[in-house]
Amino acid sequence: MKELVVISGKGGTGKTSLVASFAALAKRAVLADCDVDAADLYLILKPHIQQREAFYGGKVAVIQPDQCTGCGLCMEKCRFGAITEHESPSDENQLVYSVDPIACEGCGVCYYICPEDAISLVETKAGEWFISETRYGPMVYAKLGIAAENSGKLVTVVRTNARRIANEQELDFIIVDGSPGTGCPVISSITGADLVLVVTEPTMSGHHDLTRVVDLTTHFKIPTLVCVNKWDINPSVCLAIQDWSEQHGVEVAGRIRYDNTVTKAQIAGKSIVEFGNGRISSEIKTLWRRIEEKLR
Ligand code: SF4
Ligand code: SF4
Repeated sequence: MKELVVISGKGGTGKTSLVASFAALAKRAVLADCDVDAADLYLILKPHIQQREAFYGGKVAVIQPDQCTGCGLCMEKCRFGAITEHESPSDENQLVYSVDPIACEGCGVCYYICPEDAISLVETKAGEWFISETRYGPMVYAKLGIAAENSGKLVTVVRTNARRIANEQELDFIIVDGSPGTGCPVISSITGADLVLVVTEPTMSGHHDLTRVVDLTTHFKIPTLVCVNKWDINPSVCLAIQDWSEQHGVEVAGRIRYDNTVTKAQIAGKSIVEFGNGRISSEIKTLWRRIEEKLR
């Protein structure tokens, strides 16, 4: 079983459309959507949810009003401004304190300094993750709640479950739609993978993002391929990316043309290779063959 992770320097490079096509071409694969902040592979693959689990990704402080004596120490020491004071509804001479769960970072300072032990730290639900079935095989994905953090930890949950399913069902591939960028979630997406495919666009910022992402995969010693998506919108930058990749020992495994078939396929809720047999489909199929060769 081999794991491919598809990433990009930023969102919107067409990464997810490629992953959906790879899912159609791979046959025996489990899919994992690790773009937990903007999971949208499910829009194309229309999964049937079989298991739904809550993800507890952090803690927030909660004040027990009956134990609080109103000393105000917690508000004074909270450097995130998460604790506010109000007049007690039952006694205008008494102040009561409460925690804004969105502003609370769960640092625990108030918990440790409260002289009355009136504060507890409780786990909060940060999102959900799902095991599902699609027309291309099993898929694991997740949704992070609004303003929730810890997406790196949620990515690990998704990958771990995808790996477990691949083992149990003796599948050949794990295909991961990775998190964009170079932060904690993308590191959680790629560590230990067999191959990373970086999808980039032929723009100066796309080129710059590519260098940062390749720095990351080089650091983690993960074999890396590059795909230039919509290469023909700027052939000279595409050429610069190819030259840079060659100089840095990274293979450009594919160039995919701009084609409005991509949008039509999205609207139809299909992968590109499923939607039609045009030239863009041939390019994606050639790219997938190259990836398969590399994974062997
Ligand atoms: S430190 Fe404790 S006792 Fe003092 S206001 Fe905060 S919760 Fe109440
Ligand atoms: S846990 Fe930290 S951030 Fe949250 S209310 Fe207490 S001191 Fe403020």
